[in-house]
Amino acid sequence: AASQRDQNAERVKVVVRVRPPKTNEAGGAVRVGPDHRGIVLARENSNIPSSAFEFDKVLTETASQADVYHAAVQPIVEDVLNGYNGTIMAYGQTGAGKTYTLSSRDPDAIGMMPRAAAAIFSAIEHDQGHSYTVMMSYIQLYMELLQDLIKPQNSDLQIRENENGVYVAGVSEHEVSSMDDCLNFLHVGDRNRAVAFTALNAQSSRSHGIVMLTIIKRPSSTPKHRAVGQKVKIGKLFMVDLAGSERLKKSRSTGVRANEAVSINLSLTTLGMCINARADPSATHVPFRDSKLTRLLQESLGGNAKTSLVIAVANAVQHSEETLQSLQFGSRAMRV
Ligand code: ADP
Ligand code: MG
Repeated sequence: AASQRDQNAERVKVVVRVRPPKTNEAGGAVRVGPDHRGIVLARENSNIPSSAFEFDKVLTETASQADVYHAAVQPIVEDVLNGYNGTIMAYGQTGAGKTYTLSSRDPDAIGMMPRAAAAIFSAIEHDQGHSYTVMMSYIQLYMELLQDLIKPQNSDLQIRENENGVYVAGVSEHEVSSMDDCLNFLHVGDRNRAVAFTALNAQSSRSHGIVMLTIIKRPSSTPKHRAVGQKVKIGKLFMVDLAGSERLKKSRSTGVRANEAVSINLSLTTLGMCINARADPSATHVPFRDSKLTRLLQESLGGNAKTSLVIAVANAVQHSEETLQSLQFGSRAMRV
């Protein structure tokens, strides 16, 4: 329950990232305050009322991937190396920049996932007092079914819980020792994801993509460097590329698509409900168990783990309504 929240619990850190308008889009939909915390949806450019919001950080369309990393990822990586769990989630409508932000493989604009991996391996290299093992998994959640994207034959994976916490039973875990290893598995997973969706004649923007990095830290076996009296520490980093937050057009939501809409809504809606419940001190129940996404992320959303929520929005007038919805979602998360 929200009232039983750990006193040391960290508030969810909410960072908005604005992407530049495309050549066919009209910009000027948002204005960012000089302190880079406020953002206003411009009234003159849309038929919705002007709305002002405040976040931990607002990154304008000129912000680099490194800027996003420093604002949303760096403090979490430091925690994960010390045996805590951390989560980075990207929320927003399809096309707003979630995947670019999290997992761009473009060498000039590498995303948060490979950046986190690079930082982890660099820290490991410089820590002679411990030896580390890093494991990577990549799964997707589509219509409440969890599928392994690196070993796609592992479908309908189940979420279980033991004394160490929540885990995905049967998911393949791959040892990685460099950023390039991570990029390779990311590539394999993305390819399998595209194949699966082509077969279904569906769009991958309707699924949640989840990369998990597990860092196992042991006292070094070299006697000279052995850290005395230390135990094994396990930190987990979740990077979640959420399904597009746009509402599906009702007219087209029939048959499989209608089913899909319900399932996508289940995980995204439940995420919103958990965030609302945690933001409301009078709420007695947080419905983590109502969807697989929130069940998997329960410890991140409910414990003293650090979580960053990146709200991706497009600086484009035609997307103002969806932008408003995304900023409202982020705004509620600011109270968690
Ligand atoms: P989403 O994953 O939210 O659907 P994408 O990350 O695929 O959106 O982004 C949509 C398009 O916009 C892609 O072509 C991507 O390269 C581009 N894009 C997104 N964010 C930025 C940015 N900050 N700067 C430049 N291009 C961007
Ligand atoms: Mg995407």
